[in-house]
Amino acid sequence: MIDIAQDPPAGSATVAETLNFIDGRYVAGNGRRFENRSPVDGSLVSLVHEADASDVDAAVRAARAALRGPWGKLSQAERAALLNRLAAEITRRFEDFLAAEVADTGKPASLARHLDIPRGAANFNAFADSVKNVPTEAFEMATPDGTGALNYGIRRPRGVIAVVCPWNLPLLLMTWKVAPALACGNTVVVKPSEETPSTAALLGECMNAAGIPPGVYNVVHGFGPNSAGEFLTRHPGVDGITFTGETATGAAIMKAAADGLRPVSFELGGKNAALVFADCDFEAALDGTARSAFANTGQVCLGTERIFVERPIFERFAAALAERAKAYRFGDPHDDATTMGPLISREHRDKVLGYYERARQGGATVLAGGGVPAVEDRFAGGAWVEPTLWTGLADDSPVMREEIFGPCAHLSPFDDEQEVVARANDTRYGLATSIWTRDLSRAHRVAGQIEVGIAWINSWFLRDLRTSFGGSKQSGIGREGGVHGLEFYTELRNVCVKL
Ligand code: NAD
Repeated sequence: MIDIAQDPPAGSATVAETLNFIDGRYVAGNGRRFENRSPVDGSLVSLVHEADASDVDAAVRAARAALRGPWGKLSQAERAALLNRLAAEITRRFEDFLAAEVADTGKPASLARHLDIPRGAANFNAFADSVKNVPTEAFEMATPDGTGALNYGIRRPRGVIAVVCPWNLPLLLMTWKVAPALACGNTVVVKPSEETPSTAALLGECMNAAGIPPGVYNVVHGFGPNSAGEFLTRHPGVDGITFTGETATGAAIMKAAADGLRPVSFELGGKNAALVFADCDFEAALDGTARSAFANTGQVCLGTERIFVERPIFERFAAALAERAKAYRFGDPHDDATTMGPLISREHRDKVLGYYERARQGGATVLAGGGVPAVEDRFAGGAWVEPTLWTGLADDSPVMREEIFGPCAHLSPFDDEQEVVARANDTRYGLATSIWTRDLSRAHRVAGQIEVGIAWINSWFLRDLRTSFGGSKQSGIGREGGVHGLEFYTELRNVCVKL
C-alpha cells in the first residue's frame, strides 16, 4: 500500500504517507517530506516523500534495466495484453482511484467518476489497440548493377521516457502519456505534480498486480526546480521528455533537454477562444460554452477564457451565460449536489483572484461572480472562487492575453467573420477553439483559419482518442493521440537491403 502510517507528528493522529515507486517497490525518499493538503478544507491528505537526486537516479537506472530485461523482449501483442490487464485492474480499483483523485484535487466525485478515472483506464486499452495496427513503409529501388535494393522501416522504442505531469486531470493526463510510451515498448519515470501525487503512486500497485515487470513504471515525487522535476529532466539516462504544464515550465525543461539533445513532446498552456455566431443553436452553444469555461473549476487546458459573440445575440447570450455561472453549488465533493469544486490550492486561488482584481481595475463590467463564494464553515480553509464573467475589456488587456486557469471568461461582441478570426488568432497560444454556427461552410472555413491544434464545431471536449492532440504556437510541440505519438515514443529505423 502506498499510504502507510509512519512517524506521525507528536500529538497528531496517524498521518498517511505517499511514497516513491521505484523498480516495483514503494520506497521512502531520501529528500524532505512535504504536505499534500486538500483544497476543499486545507486538511492534511498525506505526507509525500520527495525524491532527491539519488532517488531519481535509482528510478532512471531501474527503467534502463527494465528496458534491457524482460520488458524489452516482449512482443507488441504481449505488451498490449499486459496493458489491457492493467486497464482492467484500474477499473477493479475504481473506488480507490476515485477517492485518491478527489482527496488531492477536491473536484466533485461526480466529475471524476465519469471523466478522470474511466478515461485514465481507457487510455491503456486505446493505445494498446492503436499501436498494434500501425504499418511502416517499404520502397524498392533500382541499383546500377541491376539487382536492386529493398528499403523497409521498423519502429523501436525510444528508451527511458521522463513523464512530467500537471495537477488538473492527474490520472487522465499522466496515463495519456504513460500508455503510449509503454505500448511502444519504452519504460517511464513519472514525476506527478506536487499537488496531486496520489493516483500516480497508486498506479504502481496496479502495475504489480497486472504483472508489468519491475522498473517499467517508476514514480518520483517532488517539485520542479532543484527537486525531482529538474533532477529527472536533467538526468543523462533519460532519452526523451514528455511534459504537460505551463508554457514557461516547458521553456525551462527544453533548456534542460538541450544537454544530450533529448527530444521533447510538450502540451502547454492556452488562451482559447469560443466563436459564437448569431445563427448558432443557442442552447447548445450556451451549454457547451458554460462547460468549456467552468468545468473542473476552469482548470482545463482546453477551456475557454475568451468568448466572442456575434452582436445580434450578444446581450442575450451574455445574460444567459451569467445565469449559468450563478447556478453552481460549492461544497462536499462527495455530495452529488456539489457542481463546482475548489481551485487546486490557495496559491493558485491568489493568482486567479489577482486577475479578478485586474479585470476590475481595468474597467471590466462583472456579469457574474468576481470573488470568493460563501461556503460552509467546515470548508473555510479551502481554495474556493466564484465562476466569473466579464465584458468591456480591450483585446490587449492582461486578462485577455494571459492564461488564468480559473472558472472565468471574458465576453466580447463581434460584427463579422474576418474580424473574429483575426481577434481569436491574436494570441501567443494556439491550443483549441470552439465554433458555434449552423452554417457548415462557414464552420469549416473558420476551423481552417484559426491557429490551433484542435478546432471543435458545435462541441467542446469531444475526443476520439485516435485523433491528434496538441497545440500550435506556444501551446505545444508535437502531437499525441492515436498513431501520432509514435513520432515521439519510437525511433523509425530504415533498413536497406541490397538484393
Ligand atoms: P506547471 O508547469 O506549474 O507544472 C507541471 C509539472 O512540471 C509539475 O509536475 C511541476 O512540478 C513540474 N515542473 C515545474 N518546474 C519544473 C522544472 N523547472 N523542471 C522540471 N519540472 C518542472 O503546470 P501546472 O500548474 O501543474 O498545470 C497547469 C498548466 O498546465 C496550465 O498552463 C495548463 O494550460 C497546462 N496544461 C496543458 C495541457 C495540454 O494538453 N496542453 C493539459 C493540462 C494542463
